[in-house]
Amino acid sequence: MNSEINLVEKNKIGADKWVKLICGASNEDIVSIEDLCAIYSVAGVDYIDVAAEQSIVLAARAGITWAKEVCGASPGLMISISDGKDIHFRKAKFDPLKCPSNCSRPCEKICPTSAIDFSGVREKKCYGCGRCINSCPLNLISEYDYNLSNNDLPETLKKIKPDAVEIHTEINRIDSFIKVANLIKNSDIKLKKISVSCGLNQSQKKPIDLSKALWERYEILLEHNVPLVWQLDGRPMSGDIGATTGKDTVKLWKNIGSQLPPGLIQLAGGTNGKTHEFLELNNFPDGIAFGSYARKIIQPLIEYANQNNKKLYEYPEKMALAIKKAKNLLKPWKIS
Ligand code: SF4
Ligand code: SF4
Repeated sequence: MNSEINLVEKNKIGADKWVKLICGASNEDIVSIEDLCAIYSVAGVDYIDVAAEQSIVLAARAGITWAKEVCGASPGLMISISDGKDIHFRKAKFDPLKCPSNCSRPCEKICPTSAIDFSGVREKKCYGCGRCINSCPLNLISEYDYNLSNNDLPETLKKIKPDAVEIHTEINRIDSFIKVANLIKNSDIKLKKISVSCGLNQSQKKPIDLSKALWERYEILLEHNVPLVWQLDGRPMSGDIGATTGKDTVKLWKNIGSQLPPGLIQLAGGTNGKTHEFLELNNFPDGIAFGSYARKIIQPLIEYANQNNKKLYEYPEKMALAIKKAKNLLKPWKIS
């Protein structure tokens, strides 16, 4: 069988899966987020996952509304929160006055969102991928937490009224997970889904430990009576976008996919346009989440519009190109 037929077969088997766009739990680039949500809504994502911040949610909803008017697409809106310290909820910083004038500025070159300029890191554009941190030869770049506190969670949920919430957790953090789950339950917000994002970030932990941790959380979430999503993070960040990074999440899926609690299973962490190629034809998960890679392939087009103080959908030809790129990424997972 030649490779073209192979891909057609794979597309058939992988079709109609759940796909989520991850805008980034610390991504506050409002202008880009609106375009991003418009593009991927038209391309066919089922849900869009954004930071738990009202202005971000407004921008995401504006993009989704645009897509609804254009083609009737209306993905659900999920917000990400964490039950503790988490690299998804961080930003980078450095003091630009300490930079030597002859620095070749590797930090600026490596940043996928052009968040770095001569004034340092522009907080709103940084989503905490961490790539710049080790790029500085003088170690000038550090990270800081950027997380919603438990005290603010109930009020934020009431203001935003998301369709779904994703709780980022770690294997050993059961007590703080229970606290967050209770806050969500007591907020009386009617959710359509609760997602749990967990990986093998902690050293000394094995896939079986992750499976046990997810079963513990299943018992806790049962009383919420809401459909559950288990996000298997093969890598800690979706910022790892090299061609083979999707192998880690596929490996994790093959290892414990059949031992997870009831709910929809979604791959994440290093996922990109190659991830489906590492899957077996008869063993696709329920879905996938795309983060950095989804943003990277259309970022130059969004930047072009933003530099002219416009939204990308004000440039129909470029918008069409961005939607085409987004659809290509989703193709192995969707019929159209
Ligand atoms: S490389 Fe990543 S962490 Fe560094 S400034 Fe850019 S977005 Fe932020
Ligand atoms: S790489 Fe380091 S020294 Fe160079 S511009 Fe970036 S932060 Fe400054």
